[in-house]
Amino acid sequence: MSEFITILSHNLWLFSAIAFVFAAVIGSFINVVIHRLPVMMKREWQQECNQYLTEYHHELIKPIAKKLDSPIDSYPERYNLVVPGSACPKCKADIKPWHNLPIIGWLMLKGKCASCSTSISARYPIIELMTALMVSFVAMHFGPSWEFVFATTLTFALVALTGIDLDEMLLPDQITLPLLWLGLLINLNSTFTTPSDALIGAAAGYMSLWSVFWAFKLLTGKEGMGYGDFKLLAVFGAWFGWQFLPLIILLSSLLGAIVGIALIISKKLDGGNPIPFGPYIALAGWIAMIWGSDINAWYLSSL
Ligand SMILES: [Zn+2]
Repeated sequence: MSEFITILSHNLWLFSAIAFVFAAVIGSFINVVIHRLPVMMKREWQQECNQYLTEYHHELIKPIAKKLDSPIDSYPERYNLVVPGSACPKCKADIKPWHNLPIIGWLMLKGKCASCSTSISARYPIIELMTALMVSFVAMHFGPSWEFVFATTLTFALVALTGIDLDEMLLPDQITLPLLWLGLLINLNSTFTTPSDALIGAAAGYMSLWSVFWAFKLLTGKEGMGYGDFKLLAVFGAWFGWQFLPLIILLSSLLGAIVGIALIISKKLDGGNPIPFGPYIALAGWIAMIWGSDINAWYLSSL
């Protein structure tokens, strides 16, 4: 085993290529998470609401009790990240295992369902390709090491969070909170930063956006972002230490402004529409993970 790792660390291209294939397969599962986790969450909320209504407002819901019992969507009753298997949303035909191959499957099908020719969104292969490219980059940067294992885990979670935030404008606690704990734990032996910098980073990450949120709300009466955004920044504080937070905030605002202006110019967005901020924090944090130390050193030396 250790010999194999030595070979890989001397052949980073080989390691990176293996990481690419592995990440493309996981990317295919991330597509499932992006699509299904919000449905599962909405059902959970519905159940909680129903429970509350039955307990406290039984009289109110009597006439609509039957309607409340049925799920809010058209998906089968048993619905989680594993069951049911993938099927065409239009004709319900099962997707053959070889068509489920990441990136290649979509290309083989030329982006259409094999049985009814309904077009399949290019988003699926794009997410698989993005995940694969990002992880092969992480592999080149960290080499075969624990840092690689953790950074790859973080990358997978960030891709899932980005997809869900773009679709639903939310960053599920089911993903952000475990990431926060993981960041604090892996730094107990200073994997990316010291335990104390990680702890301060988690708190400072949360508090900085939390205060921006409240300042903005008190000044304008509007809510500029959500609590998920604070948690995501806390994640990066926990993983890489408070020293990275200014860079991540700056970079995410810059990315957000560039995309926002581009969207306004191309008339795809009018000023009032909310845009999710999570994807920019995720991307900025990922960039900081790879080049953060270099960028920090560069701007400190140029001051
Ligand atoms: Zn079909």
